[in-house]
Amino acid sequence: MKDIIKILPEHVSNQIAAGEVVQRPSSLIKELIENSIDALSDKIQVFLNQSGKKSIKVVDNGLGMSKKDLMLCFQRHATSKISESNDLFNIKSKGFRGEALSSIAAVSFLEIVTRRKTDKFGYKIKIKAGKIESNEKVVSNVGTYVIVKNLFFNVPARRNFLKSDSVELRHIINEFNRISIAHHDINFTLYQRESEIFSLLKSSIHGRIKNIFGKKIEENLIPIREKTSFVKIDGYIIKPEASKKTRGMQFLFVNNRFIKNNFLFHSINKAYEGILPEKNYPGFFIFLEVDSKSIDVNIHPNKIEVRFEDEQSLYSIINSTVKHSLGIFQVTPTIDFEAKSSFEIPYSKRFDQPISPKIEVDSNFNPFKNTTSKYHSKIWNKSETIYEEVGSSNLFNSNLLNEIVSENGNKIFQIMNSYLITSTSNSLLIIDQERAHQRIIYEKLMKKITKSDNSSQQLIFPVNLILSESQKLIYYDLKNTLTEMGFRVNLKDKLNLNITGIPGICSDNKATKIIEDLFDEFENDHKKESFSYGDLIAKSISQSTSIKKGISLQKEEQKKIVNNLFNCKEQLLSPFQQKIFFSISKPELQNKFS
Ligand code: ADP
Ligand code: MG
Repeated sequence: MKDIIKILPEHVSNQIAAGEVVQRPSSLIKELIENSIDALSDKIQVFLNQSGKKSIKVVDNGLGMSKKDLMLCFQRHATSKISESNDLFNIKSKGFRGEALSSIAAVSFLEIVTRRKTDKFGYKIKIKAGKIESNEKVVSNVGTYVIVKNLFFNVPARRNFLKSDSVELRHIINEFNRISIAHHDINFTLYQRESEIFSLLKSSIHGRIKNIFGKKIEENLIPIREKTSFVKIDGYIIKPEASKKTRGMQFLFVNNRFIKNNFLFHSINKAYEGILPEKNYPGFFIFLEVDSKSIDVNIHPNKIEVRFEDEQSLYSIINSTVKHSLGIFQVTPTIDFEAKSSFEIPYSKRFDQPISPKIEVDSNFNPFKNTTSKYHSKIWNKSETIYEEVGSSNLFNSNLLNEIVSENGNKIFQIMNSYLITSTSNSLLIIDQERAHQRIIYEKLMKKITKSDNSSQQLIFPVNLILSESQKLIYYDLKNTLTEMGFRVNLKDKLNLNITGIPGICSDNKATKIIEDLFDEFENDHKKESFSYGDLIAKSISQSTSIKKGISLQKEEQKKIVNNLFNCKEQLLSPFQQKIFFSISKPELQNKFS
């Protein structure tokens, strides 16, 4: 038999490496910006076309490269940052593997122009699929610019895997945020074609966070600081009441490198234990400074995982530092999160004079006319709107409901402020009130879309929400579906979202929470794109506005939940595929007594 093993040609091995280093435009942005940082730039500009799918240009004012270095830099394992294996355990630069440019060159058209301060001219090189196409002497500024065009032009599978422009841009913004927070002493700009997304001047950590996430975040930041023999901790944690349902605001840096480390995340979560609203994650911007000899960054090509020499001690120190800061700022006593949301003045409105609501007057309104007034049912009946009446004709659509009604006249009991109990002629039903309500809200919202009923409940006090850049992108994606469901939202100025109406099924004091939760949901879960927006929005709203467990319900409300549930198309499972009720049959019950 013939020998079958062969060494892969370099362009193939580069493409394989590219699979790990360059997964999408955002990973490229990370690598290119990091190279600019390593070259000691203090001004880095990023220009995108089609969220980087068409082109990415990163311009810096750093050290530049000699002609010889330029000819080498896109070769595999070409690096100026380490030279021997010992260096691997004392990494001070962002890069060291010499893989990024070779990987990028293997899957795109690459152009690099560079000039050192000491050189009169710059040099330009063009590379296509790893091969030099041209190189020439040029007039250029000191520093380097790298242009990447037609990413994955020769790897169609990868290209097809890329998401829509707005999702790719969100990935880029996330990456850009991480690096620009870690390096607040560098000027950064990010442009998509001609429009500016970020323009960040050198600033303190605090200033940088504010510039990225908006002024509103300021009031929620608590400083943290600690210094021990092996670690210096600095940064901010976010007050528990401003925590989110996603991990989007979790920034942990080691020696100015953004990292993910579940063990250390756990130590922070633990410090917040008992003071976070349910299912929320703490937010933080924590900077650790340790001896570079005590960490190992060379675990994965993306360098986002780091191993520490003494992780256990670090765990304890971070935990106690966070606890200490939470204590000093007196956020540890129990906070009544439920009560707060009911009459909160939105931050953006805190200096505004109250404006009397503008309510349209229907001059043809006749209270004695048979039809219900729009204003009566939609505005004044707020507390009732979540438990919308079931039309009597619907009552007989459902056999189970029919049985409940005929058996005991719809007798329902609430137990433990969490479950509703009712029965049919031959079974006992125990219903989870929260899941039942989620199902009801979900179906009502979905029905609005399928029946093209975009009716809305006008808010007496319209509210404003300041969006972050990536929330703005989500808003553009969701806008049409939100309108179809009955939301009236409008982007005023650049990032100011004005909410004037919400679907009738939502209670109006939750308008901002609903939208905030929705953005939270989308912010870090890019997988969501493959589902229908309607389904996702309805799920999110059903979760954020449903009656929770532990809430005592009036008889009438209990009845409406049961009636509405058994009028749903799906009665057994919540929108999150959780069991809504179970039944115990008469024989089973009898068995218990045997
Ligand atoms: P690494 O960053 O791991 O060394 P890269 O493939 O990213 O590997 O870059 C290879 C080399 O090219 C770097 O080590 C550096 O010497 C040089 N280089 C890359 N980008 C720049 C830049 N923006 N300015 C100056 N030199 C650069
Ligand atoms: Mg690099």
